[in-house]
Amino acid sequence: MAALTYLTSARRIVVKVGSALLVNTDGTLRAAWLDGLAHDLAGLKRRGYDIVIVSSGAIAFGRNMIIGADQQRNNARLSLAEKQAAAAIGQIRLNTEWQQAMAKHDMTTAQILLSPDDTETRRKHLNARATLITLLEHQIVPVVNENDTVATAEIRYGDNDRLAARVAQMISADALILLSDVDGLYSGDPNSDNTATHIPEVTNMTSDIMAMAGPARHAFSSGGMITKLEAARIATSAGCHMAICHGGDDHPIQQLYDGGIATWFRANSQPLQARKTWIDGGLTPKGTIMVDDGASLALSRGKSLLAAGITAVTGDFDKGDLIAITDQSNATIARGLTRYSASDIQLIKGHNSGEIETILGYRDHDEVIHADDLVVDAVARQSQKKDM
Ligand code: GLU
Repeated sequence: MAALTYLTSARRIVVKVGSALLVNTDGTLRAAWLDGLAHDLAGLKRRGYDIVIVSSGAIAFGRNMIIGADQQRNNARLSLAEKQAAAAIGQIRLNTEWQQAMAKHDMTTAQILLSPDDTETRRKHLNARATLITLLEHQIVPVVNENDTVATAEIRYGDNDRLAARVAQMISADALILLSDVDGLYSGDPNSDNTATHIPEVTNMTSDIMAMAGPARHAFSSGGMITKLEAARIATSAGCHMAICHGGDDHPIQQLYDGGIATWFRANSQPLQARKTWIDGGLTPKGTIMVDDGASLALSRGKSLLAAGITAVTGDFDKGDLIAITDQSNATIARGLTRYSASDIQLIKGHNSGEIETILGYRDHDEVIHADDLVVDAVARQSQKKDM
């Protein structure tokens, strides 16, 4: 497939912006550049894409308030506590700059701060996914960063390349664009090796490709090629194509659209299929929900599981846990991530979704297991086909 088709065939795009693109070395904003990018993003939105931005820059905006007049330290690395303090100052600015730049192009933004736990623990992952998807449904552009101020060295992403790939995985995006200070992957380090050639497309994340990474270079970036390749590995196995391109000139997305230089990494599955593999994830179900014949037919047709179709619950599980679903003959027909705990399902089983609030005192979702979070067994699908 021509590399650009990765972008034009996508519907949901994550754009990752590195600090060095957004913030000058003296801590000021690259305002004209941001305005050009906001213009490009508005163009994508008009074409019907869902957009999520993952933006670095909190530390870069805040660091001058921490190092003060000590110019000697300009290029020095900050301690973890200093970085966190800088991020606490700079995140407010970062968010405000995005809000204002996007508003000029009639887009509304929302701030989302994530920690690794939020994308990797299933329960938190489901919550964060639901928030992001609700924002997208309301045509809001989420601007995501790492929750730098509370992370510790052991529990941080540390770089927004991997965070962006996790976000792409979480929302089943089909393209991730890393706007960077490099224009893609080279066979060697182009700074020291003049035989190094640019690689326009990678279809397989082999160990030879991983070996092409060099160390991080820019004082402000935490990443480097290695974290970009790790991001590519996460994204492509989540069904998301990924591009690394030079974002420094004005209108970087338009340039990419016009066929600008980039390295595209091809996804090795579809986002939904990859999500279903992740849901199953080799885990043992924590409990079982038995459903009536109507629900069992609905599930085999790709519908969500509603409380009304549930006849029995066993096991002690919480929201976000993996649950097996059985039919009336006790055969497992599907597995999925539940949005209600076992004790809540005991109370709402057999009831219409409209009654959930009266019974539980709250109502998070109409679905007990959403269709996107369900893996229906092939056998169940087969017998459904025979029935039709
Ligand atoms: N989260 C950090 C910040 O906003 C940046 C991490 C990175 O550069 O990848 O400053």
